[in-house]
Amino acid sequence: MARQAGKEDPTIDTDTAAFADSLRDTLRSWWGFDTLRPLQAEAIAAAAGGRDSLVVLPTGGGKSLCYQLPPLLDETTDIVISPLVSLMKDQVDALEAIGYPAAAIHAGLSLDQRRRVYDRLRAGDLRLLFTAPERLFNTGLLDTLTAVGVSRINIDEAHCISQWGHDFRPEYRQLAAVRERFPQASVHAFTATATPRVRDDIAAQMHLREPETLVGVFDRPNLTYRVVPRTDKTRQTLEILGRHAGEASIVYCISRRETEELAARLTAAGLLAHPYHAGLEATQRHRTQEAFAKETLDVVVATVAFGMGIDRSNVRLVLHTALPKSLEAYQQETGRAGRDGLAAECVLLYSAADVFSWESLIRRGMDATELEADEAERLIESQLTHLHQMRRYAQAARCRHAALSEYFGQSYEPTSCGGCDICLGETQNLSDSHITAQKIISCVARVGERFGVRHLSEVLRGARTAAIDRHGHHRLSTYGLLADLDQRTCENLVHQLLDQDYLSRSSGDRPVVTLNARSWEVLRNERDVTLLEPRLKKTVRAKSDADDWEGVDRDLFERLRKWRRTIADQRGKPAWTIVDDKALRSIAREKPTSPAALLRCRGIGEKRLADHGAAILDIITSSP
Ligand code: ADP
Ligand code: ZN
Repeated sequence: MARQAGKEDPTIDTDTAAFADSLRDTLRSWWGFDTLRPLQAEAIAAAAGGRDSLVVLPTGGGKSLCYQLPPLLDETTDIVISPLVSLMKDQVDALEAIGYPAAAIHAGLSLDQRRRVYDRLRAGDLRLLFTAPERLFNTGLLDTLTAVGVSRINIDEAHCISQWGHDFRPEYRQLAAVRERFPQASVHAFTATATPRVRDDIAAQMHLREPETLVGVFDRPNLTYRVVPRTDKTRQTLEILGRHAGEASIVYCISRRETEELAARLTAAGLLAHPYHAGLEATQRHRTQEAFAKETLDVVVATVAFGMGIDRSNVRLVLHTALPKSLEAYQQETGRAGRDGLAAECVLLYSAADVFSWESLIRRGMDATELEADEAERLIESQLTHLHQMRRYAQAARCRHAALSEYFGQSYEPTSCGGCDICLGETQNLSDSHITAQKIISCVARVGERFGVRHLSEVLRGARTAAIDRHGHHRLSTYGLLADLDQRTCENLVHQLLDQDYLSRSSGDRPVVTLNARSWEVLRNERDVTLLEPRLKKTVRAKSDADDWEGVDRDLFERLRKWRRTIADQRGKPAWTIVDDKALRSIAREKPTSPAALLRCRGIGEKRLADHGAAILDIITSSP
């Protein structure tokens, strides 16, 4: 029977050597991990000591362990409030794979399954119970929990409680009442949203009592960031996916239609790729999610609807085919790459045209709401600010890791990250940037500042179109000045000038390119313009990528993955919950030949050894 939390002193003395020992033993024998990640020790100590906490760690930072481990130490039953059923299921699967007693209560359970969970709960057999906020109030669950005794209430994705966080959930607001219902329990909030405003709101909404506030480092050193000028979406997507053959990749598009079109084109090119967006039928979405989790499908072309529930930890590529609307969104979406801590790549295909599309989407979206004019104007302003911060990130020739860290309020120490296109020296300036800029700007003047990017580029390239004939633009002195460039490259260069404010653009449905004060400064050689070569040099291998494969027998790694796929399929579980990539690489590096040696590999605890040890050792010893 579990200790009745709150009835005696429920807390653990966390200062003793005995505590440190039991922490280490628990971590080793259940998870097969040797060390804690930054702030995990502090978060676990706060929870074990019964002190409220607010833990802000980036995606992949290891928040789950902070609430999974404490109830093992004092054999309590703790609750985890989670916003999504799929998230709960994945976690319970992952926990069951290591023999950890956890269950979830959600609407998808049969009567029988629900009864079993309640039985285990009453018997004190569960260490963690996952549930959604609305469940807590609608069912007899509260009464049962009162009888059992709850010592810790953990709130996952706690930014849902704040209206300043993304995906605000009204039902999360009710959670404050849980605190009153279990006054003796400590409350622990977890989120990856770092802004101080969201943090303060969570603490206030949940009535946290002098919480231990732990804010982790937001930089993700294992991610390599690249921004590539978009010239040919399909060709570039294929090329980038080619670097990740056989690996999990998420390709983000803005619209539903684009996801279907691009997925179809990738499929036509011989890749297995599925579209995913909120407009697809639930069964189809579910099938795609499941195939992705079981590793029978590696490429998903999706809108942002493909997100929160996707917990596959070995996503090696997140590719944005267009500009996201904010750096918050970008951080969240790229956060799905490399959650296992191994090297992963995040590529953004950027075209300034995206900025214009977003601007008109934002304005039109606001028209559809029934907000009062000044309220709508305020919202538009804030969305445009976010958009332009994103745009600046994309066009800045500055370390991406540094730019992201600083945006999220943290300084970045290294002078060269070794993990972004800028620091790897992959971007290249156009050799005759300044002259090219002058040619374009002067063409804008010649056509009388009355034409859009496309027409302008056609004139510069010396194309023969009906519009050019009609306006007599083939007679201009700037006609054909950039005849050696193709249309896309030419448009890209005009956009770069717009981005850097060397040209302006009128608003409205058919925007035209106009001159501004800076344009004249360029023409008069008072300003030096740098344009990026639209075609990327060869990509350089990031340091983290090389390190992660150091000494790994790739053939053995692939054989182990194949075996894992079979097991995942047999058990109907996500592949990474069986054994994750980091563990497989550690095994394919060490090549252990005995159970004891296997147990020393990262990610192999007692339960996994018992379940899969023989099979894994078999694969190693039968290696050619
Ligand atoms: P978050 O919820 O913060 O996004 P997770 O809790 O899902 O992150 O953890 C991300 C990954 O890191 C998981 O695969 C998890 O097993 C692994 N992990 C967490 N803590 C440790 C640790 N101390 N040592 C090794 N791996 C860890
Ligand atoms: Zn860098």
